[in-house]
Amino acid sequence: MHRVVIVGHGFAGLFAAKALRRAPVEVVVVDRTNHHLFQPLLYQVATGVLSEGDIAPPIRNVLRHQRNTRVVLGEVTDLDVDDRRLTVDTVGRETELSYDRLMTNIAVTGATFDVDGGQQLVDG
Ligand SMILES: Cc1cc2nc3c(=O)[nH]c(=O)nc-3n(C[C@H](O)[C@H](O)[C@H](O)COP(=O)(O)OP(=O)(O)OC[C@H]3O[C@@H](n4cnc5c(N)ncnc54)[C@H](O)[C@@H]3O)c2cc1C
Repeated sequence: MHRVVIVGHGFAGLFAAKALRRAPVEVVVVDRTNHHLFQPLLYQVATGVLSEGDIAPPIRNVLRHQRNTRVVLGEVTDLDVDDRRLTVDTVGRETELSYDRLMTNIAVTGATFDVDGGQQLVDG
């Protein structure tokens, strides 16, 4: 089956995966974390209004009803565009993952306007 690999399950990756839930494709979501972080509510966690678990549900739980989707935990460390293959490092163990279509969603940067502690908050 045609395999779509989505790297990163932030807003972009998660919405892409959900949009493909009924598509006749195999969807593989890869991320170096096992939770989807809802970044806009980080302030509420920092100020103690919410707990971490309230804004970071396990991605496998979020996507559990999508029969065509599986989640791979690991950091993408290499990309071979010619061979359509990714290298994924999962706690020191490297595996290769082939794809027909690739969507990467890993390059977001934020501006913290030099607010004290702002970057630390974003980095977790
Ligand atoms: C405190 C805060 C408040 C915000 N408030 C708002 C708001 O009110 N409204 C608004 O519109 N936006 C807001 N934003 C911005 C918004 O959250 C981001 O624009 C959005 O989350 C970006 O989504 P994304 O999917 O592009 O990237 P991200 O959510 O950053 O997801 C990228 C994913 O890629 C993964 N990843 C990265 N590199 C690799 C790799 N090599 N291998 C595997 N996985 C990798 C990461 O683990 C991550 O899960 C806020 C951001 C912050 C920090």
